[in-house]
Amino acid sequence: MKSIRKLDRRKKIALIAHDNKKRDLIEWAVHNKIVLSKHSLVATGTTGRLIEEALDQPVVKLLSGPLGGDQQIGAMIATGDIDMVFFFFDPMEAQPHDSDVKALLRLAVAWNLPMACDRTTADFLVTSPFMQGEYEYELPNYIHYLNRKVQK
Ligand code: PGA
Repeated sequence: MKSIRKLDRRKKIALIAHDNKKRDLIEWAVHNKIVLSKHSLVATGTTGRLIEEALDQPVVKLLSGPLGGDQQIGAMIATGDIDMVFFFFDPMEAQPHDSDVKALLRLAVAWNLPMACDRTTADFLVTSPFMQGEYEYELPNYIHYLNRKVQK
């Protein structure tokens, strides 16, 4: 059975940036302030504080990424509480919370979420006509996985 997910016009957007990418994300967010003002924003702690200051728009701030914020976002992706992700991660520096970063990225793909991890992709996403309208898509079907035989 197909399971369809509908994204409203107002989307729940997650924002995360590693320290070396925070300036990039903030610049990008300021540039797209008008579009972002039409959506609900949630972010890891430090990113959220900076974005809130820069945009003068409320941001739901979770824990700081390395302290559990990435895992909180991952959980929200899995429960359908986030519609899209802008995660500017640093590809050049090992992070203490690499495993959490990987888990977040994996869950976004597992649930077929729109996700931008660099500024160019973010530009493409944020200018998509789907940003301002509703969008429906088919959720991946994990029924075979859920019904797999496991040893008792
Ligand atoms: P931060 O976390 O926004 O609290 O700095 C980002 C991250 O996941 O590294």
